[in-house]
Amino acid sequence: LPVPNIELRDGNLIPQFGLGVFKVEAEETEGVVAKALEAGYRHIDTAAVYGNEAEVGRAIAASGIPRDELFVTTKLWNSDHGDPRAAFDASLEKLGLEKLDLYLVHWPVPRRGTAVRAWRGLVEIVGAGLVDSIGVSNFEIEHLRALIDETGVVPAVNQIELHPLHQRRELRAFCAEYDIAIESWGPLAQGKSDLFELPEVAEAAAAHAKTPAQVVLRWHLQHGFIVFPKSTRRKRLVENAEIFDFRLSDDEVARIDALDEQRAFGADPRTFEG
Ligand code: NAD
Repeated sequence: LPVPNIELRDGNLIPQFGLGVFKVEAEETEGVVAKALEAGYRHIDTAAVYGNEAEVGRAIAASGIPRDELFVTTKLWNSDHGDPRAAFDASLEKLGLEKLDLYLVHWPVPRRGTAVRAWRGLVEIVGAGLVDSIGVSNFEIEHLRALIDETGVVPAVNQIELHPLHQRRELRAFCAEYDIAIESWGPLAQGKSDLFELPEVAEAAAAHAKTPAQVVLRWHLQHGFIVFPKSTRRKRLVENAEIFDFRLSDDEVARIDALDEQRAFGADPRTFEG
């Protein structure tokens, strides 16, 4: 697939498109990842809490694809902020890898006040040469500020719920100021909305002979966001990857930009504890 790379603030490259495996059952995961790799995907986003790291690892091993052609991300779970290195080692072992490309603090869990400690742990893991890049997920501006003020280390990415119905403009502006790349989770609003039926999306799809899902994913790409839509079906895995052969016009992008309702489908990072 002709997936562009994005250069992170630490100088490492990340493929702008991949596969997310949230809510992919463990029994199904090896097959889904294998199908995605066959279709040309080279970037996989998982997390310790998804319970499918070992199955992701098996699909990677069985694929025979050279390690340096793959980009693998996993995440530190909330109950492991006290010992990130132990959690990281367990994830690496499950994935069957010697090194990760990107490791994220999954949630800030602000009421516990543990995120800075967790972040220092990730900084040590980079220092030990076990991961190339580190970042965070679900961090609001105040959570990012605390990390940066207290450690001086700026996350390479912030993985946040982001889609046309929830566009996170203030948070994006803050991240842009610090050169923190944005990863959009739930890029298709998790299939839980009427997003695909909205005329702004449906008309652009008709104009380009593409599907509404492809239009929404293209909108993310044109904004510079990193995306890894989830699907378990071969047909949709292929469909979601066929987004590099067309371009939305400025007007089409602007019409989708106007759909922001600040409507989240996932948990609230200010209160979520897992
Ligand atoms: P998503 O927006 O990728 O939506 C996936 C759903 O959209 C599918 O289950 C299906 O119902 C539908 N879909 C997918 N392709 C389609 C197509 N071509 N046509 C029509 N419908 C289609 O939601 P997601 O899986 O929650 O997000 C993507 C990834 O982001 C996850 O798998 C995970 O890796 C990551 N994520 C991270 C967090 C976090 O807290 N960091 C939270 C949620 C998701």
